[in-house]
Amino acid sequence: MSAAVIDGKQVAAQVLEEVGREVEQLKAAGVTPGLAVVLVGDDPASQVYTSNKERTARELGMHSVLYRLSATSTQAEVADLVRTLNRDPAIHGILVQSPLPKGLDMDAVVRLIDPLKDVDGFHPENVGRLWTGQDGLVPCTPAGVMRLLEAYGVDPKGKHAVVVGRSNIVGKPMAALLLARHATVTICHSRTPDLAETCRRADILVAAVGKLQMITGEYVKPGAVVIDVGINPVPGFKKRIRGDVDFDSAAEVAGLITPVPGGVGPMTIAMLMANAVKAARMQTGKS
Ligand code: NDP
Repeated sequence: MSAAVIDGKQVAAQVLEEVGREVEQLKAAGVTPGLAVVLVGDDPASQVYTSNKERTARELGMHSVLYRLSATSTQAEVADLVRTLNRDPAIHGILVQSPLPKGLDMDAVVRLIDPLKDVDGFHPENVGRLWTGQDGLVPCTPAGVMRLLEAYGVDPKGKHAVVVGRSNIVGKPMAALLLARHATVTICHSRTPDLAETCRRADILVAAVGKLQMITGEYVKPGAVVIDVGINPVPGFKKRIRGDVDFDSAAEVAGLITPVPGGVGPMTIAMLMANAVKAARMQTGKS
């Protein structure tokens, strides 16, 4: 292996420490940042994600509430809860865990969230702000990737960044953030021909595909920075997860690489906490 390995756990711990200090400052100024996490239904993975988010916020000293709605909830019931939380002055951040049970419209729910409380950064107003260079709340996973790059001294300016994946939650905001930092950005997807060839031109390669170990060393330019957003189960192993990048072969070629687990994953929840504090600041005018 020639690549240096990015320690996402360590950078996430630093972010959480900073957020903890900011929570203390805000509390001293009379504001307790409040995060509401909404879980609809009983998807086991979503239960784990939401309780981790609620617990982390609580451990950082925030006012943290987990709302559990039954899988049979109606669109109107979910909407009512969001409207109530929008009005609640003790709540600065609202997160509705995806996916919602079948029959419920997530986009419609996201549109109802007050953009100032939209800690996932998925509301069209925040998406528009991101693409037009205005301050707002930015999706947590791509924000976490930017923080990792910064922590390891990688300046995207003038670099060619290739993002594989164009989802609204990872690929597109990732591309927007890299563009904002002056990278030349190529976005690839399932209809991109010659994917490996395009990826081999990347100084910074971000994989957000959802395909187990698809990006091998053949896709990597020597010395490139490789960021693996993927979280994929490994068939035959109950608890094992691996990324979209084939770590062993990619690490032979890359200069710097994230592992899975322990790379981008821990950053997502840390950046969510940072967004909750930012949301509290924006709503209360405390800087
Ligand atoms: P989506 O399924 O929404 O998007 C996947 C993207 O990959 C799509 O744009 C799709 O193209 C593209 N794609 C699929 N197959 C190929 C292929 N063979 N070649 C090129 N492109 C392809 O996934 P997400 O963006 O939500 O998530 C991506 C990965 O990141 C998943 O493994 C997910 O678990 C993980 N993830 C990790 C997080 C973390 O905290 N670390 C947070 C969120 C996600 P098209 O648009 O054409 O269909």
